[in-house]
Amino acid sequence: MLSCSEKGRTERVLTVCPYCGTGCGLYLVVEDGHIAGVEPDSLHPVNEGELCVKGYFGYQHVEDPRRLTAPLVKKDGRFTPVSWDEALNFVAGRLTRIRQESGPDAFVLFASARATNEENYVAQKFARAVMGTNNVDHCARL
Ligand code: SF4
Repeated sequence: MLSCSEKGRTERVLTVCPYCGTGCGLYLVVEDGHIAGVEPDSLHPVNEGELCVKGYFGYQHVEDPRRLTAPLVKKDGRFTPVSWDEALNFVAGRLTRIRQESGPDAFVLFASARATNEENYVAQKFARAVMGTNNVDHCARL
């Protein structure tokens, strides 16, 4: 994560835009340990110094206090923070029960344009090989 702790110090941190699978290269401009802006990486082979509006301005959520920092499971009608193990066991149990009670085609997987090709490949593989359905779709409807 960010390593700027010195007061008044500005640093440019090379990273990759997380907003879509294009993977544009950019620098986070970090002042006093906080992201103050974004600059495109002019040497990155994908974006060659360009960014779309999401790449330039989509960083405010990083320090938003409303950001989720733990998985939530509804208990007694209220979303409750739980460990990743508990959340994943909960989801696995529910998916198993849905498949047993209603069949594989009761499940559909919607993949994301924010994920890489490799992540989307794994997601569709999960739907087909684990859940046993070809109900696979994607959010990119251009
Ligand atoms: S959201 Fe925009 S800047 Fe970010 S990787 Fe995708 S195209 Fe590049």
